Amino acid sequence: MSAVQSSFIAALRAGEAATWTRDEVSRQWNLGAPELSAAIEQARKRFRDFRAPLAALFRGEDWDGEIRSDLIDWPAQAGSPHILVKADHNLPVTGSIKARGGLHELLAFLEYAARREGLLGTANDYAKLAEPGAVEAFSHYRVSVASTGNLGYSVGLVGRTFGLGVTVHMSRDAKSWKKDRLRKLGATVVEHAGDYGEACAAARAMPQDEFSHFVDDENSPDLFCGYAVAAEELATQLAQRGIIPSAHAPIVVYLPCGVGGAPGGITYGLKRIFGNSVLCVFVEPTQAPAMFAALATRASAEHLPSIYDYGLDNVTLADGLAVGRASALAFSAVGQAIDGAVTLTDRDMLRQAAQAWTLAGLKLETSAAAALAAIPPFIAATAGKENWPDLNKAIHIAWVTGGAKLPEAEWLQQLRAAGPA
Ligand SMILES: *Cc1c(COP(=O)(O)O)cnc(C)c1O
Repeated sequence: MSAVQSSFIAALRAGEAATWTRDEVSRQWNLGAPELSAAIEQARKRFRDFRAPLAALFRGEDWDGEIRSDLIDWPAQAGSPHILVKADHNLPVTGSIKARGGLHELLAFLEYAARREGLLGTANDYAKLAEPGAVEAFSHYRVSVASTGNLGYSVGLVGRTFGLGVTVHMSRDAKSWKKDRLRKLGATVVEHAGDYGEACAAARAMPQDEFSHFVDDENSPDLFCGYAVAAEELATQLAQRGIIPSAHAPIVVYLPCGVGGAPGGITYGLKRIFGNSVLCVFVEPTQAPAMFAALATRASAEHLPSIYDYGLDNVTLADGLAVGRASALAFSAVGQAIDGAVTLTDRDMLRQAAQAWTLAGLKLETSAAAALAAIPPFIAATAGKENWPDLNKAIHIAWVTGGAKLPEAEWLQQLRAAGPA
């Protein structure tokens, strides 16, 4: 192990914030997966097809059924770089990035069930899938998922609204308001004694049949492709602003990372469009740095490290990111394309969430604030680095991943936990 590698490991073990960077901006993203490209196109089409039934079922939101978030300006401050915010915290329906990946996998299963029930026929009339007849037919189908947070909520809310039976497997750290919210939707909540990985394994082991489906957060191409679609949305928004990234003046995208599906899918999509004119930086809590550990130790997808092996406990207020081991699927797809990894303490993220509120009026959960908090350490770590562009000339995009639907009491508690400004 090199001296540099061992200094990363030392920081990891000590639970200290750290930044890993690739020696050179990655040019080695894996474009050699044609089936993935085709699957991403299919995901894009599926989101379009389901606009009508989604708009009909969630019409309280005054919305056309498109899953799309704004790209907004972060308030300019003296001496700070140009920052934009990709506002997935405010995505329609579920208020988190899971309205991309989790929702897409659910739509794929609904499509399967609809075809099986003869509901789509030759007319491919997706609008009918929101009608009572379809909802009654869907009630014979069941979907299950393991999640302590946004994924369970997204699958639970949308699945139940379409009439599916839903089971959510939760780990020991799941908060009771989250269980209550799911039970109110009519979902079954199964509580497990272990952590997220163990709840996921237990859920995966349950038998499935032609009426049921398990949304596997750690191994699902459908999730990954649902996230990847977001890259083109961002590209369109950048073009509308006249932003043309280059290798010398790149965009740097900061992506909060749990198992790596959401940031991985987005990275895959962005690297396909922008090559080395985009830098993708994954952001994690110091107590759950699964991807950081994999990158800093140059692990292979077959042997991804567990954060428990470094004496860490996976306990963090950023519960959307509390994961002990990265997804092998995400790591093999984009491990070589990730340009940097930043770890942050809970305190860093809490303070950033509070600042996002006071400065910009953004209601972010702790996990989402990580994207903003990672910008200064990443710029500092790359300053003067050989073979790297000058990031002061770059445009920094914080992908804020959730928060708008956080219950008021939870939100206030999070603000209080940040302490005085
Ligand atoms: C799920 C989630 C993430 C990370 O997604 P992964 O696919 O687990 O990497 C980030 N932020 C929030 C708010 C999330 O809910």
